[in-house]
Amino acid sequence: MQENLNKNTTSLADRIDKYSKKWHALSNERILKILESNQITGLSSKEAQKRLDEFGTNCLPKPKKPNLVKIFFKSFLDPLSIMMAIAGLVSLIIGLINQLEAPDIAGLVIICVIILTNSFIATIQEYKALNQKEAIKNNSVQAIVLRDSKQIKISIEEIVPGDIIYTKSGDYVPADCRIIENQMLKVDESALTGENEAVDKVDEILDENQLVLGDQKNIAFMSTLVIEGKMKGVVFNTGRESEIGKIATKISETKKKKTPLEKKVAKLTLIIGIISIILGTIIFTIAYLNNSKINESVYQLLLVAVSSAISIIPESLTIIVKICLMIATKKMATKNVMIKKPKSIETLGNINVICSDKTGTLTQNKMFVDSLYFNNKVFNSKDLDLTEDPLVRCMALCNDAIINKKGEKIGNATDLALVSLLVEQKINYLTMRRKYKRVDEVPFDSKRKVMSTVNLIDSENGQYVAYTKGAMDYLLPNCKHIVDGKDVRPINDDDIANIKDQLLRFAKKGMRTLGFAKKDLEKIDLEQDYQYEDKLVFMGLVGIIDPPREEVKHSVQEAHDSGVRVIMITGDHKVTAFEIASRLGIADETYNDVITGAEIETLSREDLKNKLNQTNVFARVNPEHKALIVDLLQDQNNIVAMTGDGVNDSPSLVKADVGIAMGITGTEVSKKVSDVILTDDNFKSIISGINSGRNVYEKIKYSISFLIAANISQVLTILLVLGIFGQLALNSVNILFHIFVVETIVAIPIGMQSERNGVMLNPPPTHKKESLFKGILVQIILTTFFNTFFAVLNFAIAEIYMNNFNVSLSAEQLKNFATGYAKAGAYICIMFSPIFYAILFNNKFMPILNSNKKVVVDKYKPNKWLIILITFSIIITALTMLPFEGLNVFFDFKTYNLPAGLAAIFVINTLLVPLFIFITNWSFTKILARQKK
Ligand code: ATP
Repeated sequence: MQENLNKNTTSLADRIDKYSKKWHALSNERILKILESNQITGLSSKEAQKRLDEFGTNCLPKPKKPNLVKIFFKSFLDPLSIMMAIAGLVSLIIGLINQLEAPDIAGLVIICVIILTNSFIATIQEYKALNQKEAIKNNSVQAIVLRDSKQIKISIEEIVPGDIIYTKSGDYVPADCRIIENQMLKVDESALTGENEAVDKVDEILDENQLVLGDQKNIAFMSTLVIEGKMKGVVFNTGRESEIGKIATKISETKKKKTPLEKKVAKLTLIIGIISIILGTIIFTIAYLNNSKINESVYQLLLVAVSSAISIIPESLTIIVKICLMIATKKMATKNVMIKKPKSIETLGNINVICSDKTGTLTQNKMFVDSLYFNNKVFNSKDLDLTEDPLVRCMALCNDAIINKKGEKIGNATDLALVSLLVEQKINYLTMRRKYKRVDEVPFDSKRKVMSTVNLIDSENGQYVAYTKGAMDYLLPNCKHIVDGKDVRPINDDDIANIKDQLLRFAKKGMRTLGFAKKDLEKIDLEQDYQYEDKLVFMGLVGIIDPPREEVKHSVQEAHDSGVRVIMITGDHKVTAFEIASRLGIADETYNDVITGAEIETLSREDLKNKLNQTNVFARVNPEHKALIVDLLQDQNNIVAMTGDGVNDSPSLVKADVGIAMGITGTEVSKKVSDVILTDDNFKSIISGINSGRNVYEKIKYSISFLIAANISQVLTILLVLGIFGQLALNSVNILFHIFVVETIVAIPIGMQSERNGVMLNPPPTHKKESLFKGILVQIILTTFFNTFFAVLNFAIAEIYMNNFNVSLSAEQLKNFATGYAKAGAYICIMFSPIFYAILFNNKFMPILNSNKKVVVDKYKPNKWLIILITFSIIITALTMLPFEGLNVFFDFKTYNLPAGLAAIFVINTLLVPLFIFITNWSFTKILARQKK
């Protein structure tokens, strides 16, 4: 193949097109030539910009925007709207047969208005929720590329064909690329090929011409996940031209699953739905039997029965839950908690154990070297004068971090602490890295907790040195020699005792310790496997300070106050871990022990469970131990949140009830499997998340108690009046108007109350299966009782008053007026009481929700939306009661010529409902508070 690669004759795009499907069969040099790139310098920023303009951003095709009209029509499909529509249709048919009258028309209009309003609100909520999901997805990811000879971090969207990229374990591959340097790369390609087994990659040419994607082992595909190792690659396809881009449009969005709370609410609605049918039937039967007295058409009786049935179902709960979850998701985002799965909001509210990483989450991850130990002496980093010696070489060469000219820090915090020290000491680590080329390496992994590199120190004599740095627990037993001044001699027991002693001194100050060792190698054959990490020469030790985050101590206290236990799980040394844990209040008199990874390996499950009751600190653990710890805690009925950042943290993140990944330092894998991402990596944000989660749960409970009480009161009033007076207290228009005002207007803002901090002074709402009614049953019963009682009382007073004290009317007129006024009495109470007592459904006035726990009342913050919508409801309901004969006909009661005395009694009784609810709740709270003492 002798193609003409002349820039003038073929464009880059044409060439990329021409070689598509052949990248695996070309040599690195050839690919670089085709793509006009260079693996030492990368692209120039100017060329990269040009290519970005030509090829577009490296984004996958976005899923279609949700269509408002489609969502609107879909919202009619919920069972309640269908029931209402059927009710409307039946009414219309029967009405037409019986020749419609004004009230019937009003009934139909109101049914239509309610269905439309419900669908309208549902549409807006659904649309908002979908758009929010998009915003989360667009959260940009960064990648390291080589541009103008420098490694820089850019947003993956800016990657172009020809870019040289670096990818390491835990990253997503940012674009389709040919691997030019491979370090034990293992990639999970399941997103692309469906193959679950991770694929070992290579960097050599593959001969076969036609290979399926799964067999193209020298190519890393966009959006696949690096599980192990690292690579350098040259990008040939980006965005929609990549393999995943080509199929992305075909991948359908996974259907949104209901959260447990939504499921609980759906179940509750269904149960109430069944009850409603039974009650509707009872109402119809009694009304039909009493029809000689009621004197209504069968059609009107049927409508009353159907609308009563509908009115019991708290259909707006579904919307309220959605709104609550949406508000909480938004609120949490402002507090650095990104919710990936809505169900985790509720679970966050329920957790009672947080297992947290140390580094970065509890500490600042701003590491600096404080002290060094070598040649049996301790030095403070400020009093040092380092020159290039084997120890310094180890720090510089066995290290992947860079601080670039702009001062940008690339790499992990531990490596960066060493690089910073070298920069302060005016040692040019980059020149050293160029001079002593790295020929092999064994990357850091969280099991060994060390990393090693092999560098060519003397090219003339072929002298290689392996440098190892990392945890002393692993390093020291492998050291057979020690550097002593300029000499190297066998290590003895005194040396080991001194080193261990020094290690403990550093650790007791809360410092992270890191040892350095080397191994001289004669000429080596890189094709063969060597053991670099044995028979080492010990060179020295550093103590690195990573200060605890200042705010965390307070957050740990807050967690404890709210009944949440905090456990630290770290890869760091046991003494360092315990010191930091003690400073933060995680370890205390009760939890005064540390369990190490090594102990976990030897202890039985039962012993470990017992030990778990005395310790909040796990040190030197491997990621696999984390999953076991979660398992044991869950066995003890705890609801556990676990933080994680590494690739190997995935099992524990999945196992935990809430898996929390770190937004800044976390690997893409950990972010993918987690439920929640902390955008600031800060422990404090977890506490904010718990707060929001608990608030959601509480607000839903208030909404449920309000809705059920208001709805049942209405139906009970109808039933009681039917039973006692053989009359219909409310007609279908009244009932439907009640649904419209109480359910659609007043109930929703109850779920929109502002968050309160007091929820954090109670223990968590215990169990996963806890009933939604726990703690609110008393309120429901009280509210229902008062509301029903006064509505029936109003009815009774009007009947008795008119029949016994008003003698100026004819018997026929009397009957007519009495029932009309009585109905007005029932209506005013059924409509206005809930509008008023809606104000009481919050923690300030109803703290008995937590009756078995500490009663905490927060400062009352007026709920703006509730006040606006209550005012609106008062106005529209008052309008329905205006004393005009024509209007009265629509609503089937009489306010026209209503005696002032009766009107006053109606109003007083209506206001007594919220007053009594308030007084009884207040008394309960006092009694409970006294009992606690
Ligand atoms: P966590 O974040 O879970 O609290 P950690 O970050 O402290 O844990 P690791 O990063 O696994 O845990 O570090 C554990 C030990 O590994 C450290 O105490 C240190 O001795 C060693 N170590 C950490 N980073 C490096 C590194 N870049 N090179 C060599 N050794 C390292």
